[in-house]
Amino acid sequence: MPPYLKINALGYLKQYILPFSGLSLEKHLYHFYIDGKFFTEFEYTEIEQASINVDLTLDKQERMLVLDFAIKGSLNVMCDRCLDNFDYEVNKQERLIIKLGETWEEENDDILIIPESEHQIDISSYLYEYIVLMLPIKKTHPEDNNGNTKCNPEIIKRLNELSHTEPDSRWDSLKGLITEN
Ligand SMILES: [Zn+2]
Repeated sequence: MPPYLKINALGYLKQYILPFSGLSLEKHLYHFYIDGKFFTEFEYTEIEQASINVDLTLDKQERMLVLDFAIKGSLNVMCDRCLDNFDYEVNKQERLIIKLGETWEEENDDILIIPESEHQIDISSYLYEYIVLMLPIKKTHPEDNNGNTKCNPEIIKRLNELSHTEPDSRWDSLKGLITEN
């Protein structure tokens, strides 16, 4: 059970709290916008800027809430190859099922049980996790339509020079050894 879910977010993250108890038994639509400020609230420094739109459909049923998230936008991150920043595009659907039960319990990653006495849910930590997990371990500039990397050409040129000169110079010194003998 994630303890942070019990604490309702304060300040900036307050906008990600969904009061559900008064809702009628039908689908409800929400829209959230996420920018860099959102990530600083979680003290996550790898993402400084972001522009993400989240469309949420909340299907309220008798003893269950089905939350369907459509997450789309971009995260500004540093390229692991050339160290320039670039916009990493994200686009994903996620589903969270919230069941009313006895106590707080996370059945699995997609199913959360909350006590019947609760009347609102803070979805900020779920949004945070969904988005951060979309980032690959190695983040690099995408390729253009011709299959060429969009990395900083100056840096790539220098990286290529370095990777070529090193084995060559080793080969040269080896040749030197051979001719000396
Ligand atoms: Zn790059």
